Amino acid sequence: MRLIFYAILGFIIYYLVRGVTRGTSPSRRRSPNSHGTSETGKELKKDPVCGTYIPEDTPYHLSHKGQPYFFCSETCLKTFKQQIAQKKEK
Ligand SMILES: [Zn+2]
Repeated sequence: MRLIFYAILGFIIYYLVRGVTRGTSPSRRRSPNSHGTSETGKELKKDPVCGTYIPEDTPYHLSHKGQPYFFCSETCLKTFKQQIAQKKEK
C-alpha cells in the first residue's frame, strides 16, 4: 500500500510542478499544438534592443517596414522607436 501512496504523491508533485512552469502565460492558450514554446524556441522572438528572447504574445510589439518586432518591455519598444526616428534623420 505504501508504494501506491508514494506513486500518487509523486504524480501530484509532478502535476504541481507542471502547473507552475505552465502558469507563466495562463490567458494565452488558444493554440493547442504550440506546447513547449520555450523548449523548442520556435515561437520566441528576439528583442532587437536588448537581445532577450520573448514569446510572440508579448503586448509590446510593432511592425516596421512590413516586419514585426517584439520587445520584452515598453522601455525597449520606446528605444526602438527612437532608433527608427534617428535613422530617418540621417
Ligand atoms: Zn528588451
